[in-house]
Amino acid sequence: MLKNNLGFPRIGSHRQLKKACESYWSGKTSLSELIEVGKKIRIENWKLQRELGIDLIPSNDFSFYDHVLDHSLMFGVIPQRFEVLKHLPEADQYFAMARGYQQNGFDLKAMEMTKWFDTNYHYIVPEFTRFQTFKLNADKIISEFREAKNEGIITKSVIIGPVSYLLLGKEKEEGFDKLSLLDRLLPVYCDLIARLVNEGAEWIQFDEPFLALDINYQTKDALRVVYQTIRKEFPALKILLATYFDGLQDNILAAVNLPICALHLDLVRCPEQLEEVLPKIPEDFTLSLGLIDGRNIWKTDYQKVIPIVEKAIKTLGTHRVMLAPSCSLIHTPCNLENETKISAEIKDWLAFAQQKLIEITEIYEVVVNQKIECLTKNQASIQRRQTSTLIHKPHVKTRVAEVKSSDLNRKSSFLERQIVQKDILNLPLFPTTTIGSFPQTDEIRAIRAKFKKGEISVVQYNEFIKLHTQKVVVWQEELGFDVLVHGEFERNDMVEYFGELLSGFVFSENGWVQSYGSRCVKPPIIFGDIERKTAMTVEWSKYAQSLTQKPMKGMLTGPITILQWSFVRDDQPRSSTMMQIAWAIRDEVVDLEKAGIKIIQIDEAALREGLPLRQTKRAAYLKNAIDAFRISASGVQDETQIHTHMCYSEFNDIIENIAEMDADVITIETSRSQMELLEAFAKFNYPNEIGPGVYDIHSPRVPSVEEMEVLLLKAMEVLPAQNLWVNPDCGLKTRKWPETQQALRNMIEAAHRVRERV
Ligand code: GLN
Ligand code: ZN
Repeated sequence: MLKNNLGFPRIGSHRQLKKACESYWSGKTSLSELIEVGKKIRIENWKLQRELGIDLIPSNDFSFYDHVLDHSLMFGVIPQRFEVLKHLPEADQYFAMARGYQQNGFDLKAMEMTKWFDTNYHYIVPEFTRFQTFKLNADKIISEFREAKNEGIITKSVIIGPVSYLLLGKEKEEGFDKLSLLDRLLPVYCDLIARLVNEGAEWIQFDEPFLALDINYQTKDALRVVYQTIRKEFPALKILLATYFDGLQDNILAAVNLPICALHLDLVRCPEQLEEVLPKIPEDFTLSLGLIDGRNIWKTDYQKVIPIVEKAIKTLGTHRVMLAPSCSLIHTPCNLENETKISAEIKDWLAFAQQKLIEITEIYEVVVNQKIECLTKNQASIQRRQTSTLIHKPHVKTRVAEVKSSDLNRKSSFLERQIVQKDILNLPLFPTTTIGSFPQTDEIRAIRAKFKKGEISVVQYNEFIKLHTQKVVVWQEELGFDVLVHGEFERNDMVEYFGELLSGFVFSENGWVQSYGSRCVKPPIIFGDIERKTAMTVEWSKYAQSLTQKPMKGMLTGPITILQWSFVRDDQPRSSTMMQIAWAIRDEVVDLEKAGIKIIQIDEAALREGLPLRQTKRAAYLKNAIDAFRISASGVQDETQIHTHMCYSEFNDIIENIAEMDADVITIETSRSQMELLEAFAKFNYPNEIGPGVYDIHSPRVPSVEEMEVLLLKAMEVLPAQNLWVNPDCGLKTRKWPETQQALRNMIEAAHRVRERV
């Protein structure tokens, strides 16, 4: 029974990779220093996994920015516009594709970025053209394989399977289907495999997550062709095909009929599939049981998992079973041992990536070597959590259980509200605003760190934040913004800030998870019933509003996003936890209104990301999510304008649901996709107001007035002018000030020019 790992966090246990990348980008360190940091992380990871007893240790799970972009580079899928950078070192071309390039007279937009399935990890979308060609550049994968081999570890290279790689990409021209590129791509995969085999590779892991999604028969056919071809060319290669994030369901036959050696199943997301898959497994097949949750941080209950392992063993025999996490561990933090502040009681319930690998080994020991003490120790923790007094609050549960329909609805319809609000707010056409945060400078971070360490007092800290707030209020007025924000300087993070003020949350010090590129997030851990202890934002919003006559937006994070960007307790349905948060946010919305705030934004950045991957599960999720949003937003009078904001997303299939949220204004990402998204809103006749992001804040590039003007004109073609707002596509906290000032100045100018045209 092999112990199999699908992928290990690559950012380093203290975010070394983030720091190294950012230092290289800012010109402070050299490329060779960056490369050294990467190498060190990889070697540490491999050695650790060997020490922990993992048999199939992954390589090529490392990436300097994104593993999908690595594949694009590996196959020569480099958009034409980056050709002009051919003279640069490969790393710089790579980072240019990821982040855009605005230097030495060049001005190249970054490639599009989108969420990796239903996670908060973002990948760079491959761009395919009709006559797309592929050319192998295997340097990275091969050198990583050799690196590990030098350490005496024969790794299992992880690659995205050809079908999933194509499906992850986007057709940049009309008139072809990306899957049709397979004929050209497959030979390049075969060259790649040949190289790996030549280096001594025994196992290769092909990730084909689309097998756990709704796919058509062409896709199944493509999978068959791919793996038959690979099998034929490399009869001795051990192919491990990994699926995750949902179950195989109607794709079971398609999967088990593939000529592969091992199939990995996500038995955390979809435990029921085992029952169906087991009897269909061919004789020579191994099953990798994804039993340890790769998407959450709770200790595994061995008592629940061991019978499943035993069942698989009974059908297949020990040697045809593998133990594994449900998916790559990049979605969990590195090491629980680095946590010093989580109380011992709660720490006892948790497992991060490193601990999850230990769990695999322990389960192995219990099953194979009857090491019962591992089980006993585990069961003691599980029981302590179940009986803890920290978790349950009956009055919170009662409130959530007693929802009335009036709790879910605004007093009047949108059209009626729009009239009242236009009257009160008196905004021009194309009102300008931002999404909330302004650059969090090193100075601000340093002060916050000091405050957290107790080196400065609350009073000093608050004075400092006030000063910054005041500066941006003045600055926004000077620039001519119509609706102002306070800048969110008091917030470390849009979820953590609220979590710290709500009950039921606990925070890690080093629980970082990669979100995109060098950006990492530290999801709070929701362990118990949630309630608002005191007002969370009212004082700050009131202060900011007192500095200006212009409307100041109150700024909150919505229930879906708080849930989605946290590690959520697994002892009650997610929807129950989401409703508890919704009520807490509603209380805050009502208090903001009472304090004189006329516009309140409830960010639901993660609504789309939480959408179940399988069609059949979506309706239930959307119903709960929309209800939660409506509960949080519906406690106010008609005059109060509710905004919501959503990030990087594909909304086409859920516009109807977004409309049901009934926010007065929604601001969304559209700029990397050149407003393509708006057509879907137009087709649906989206009734409420909308602010399509006119520039991409995920890249340091400064957009010109003209290009934003063009985007606004495009928007005007499809949506009524009186419903349009002008804003960047997300918050600005990760940007630097100079580019932000320049970009926003241009944005305001673009809004003015468009106003003059109507
Ligand atoms: N208000 C938040 C900010 O501006 C929204 C960020 C987000 O949607 N990711 O940072
Ligand atoms: Zn956003």
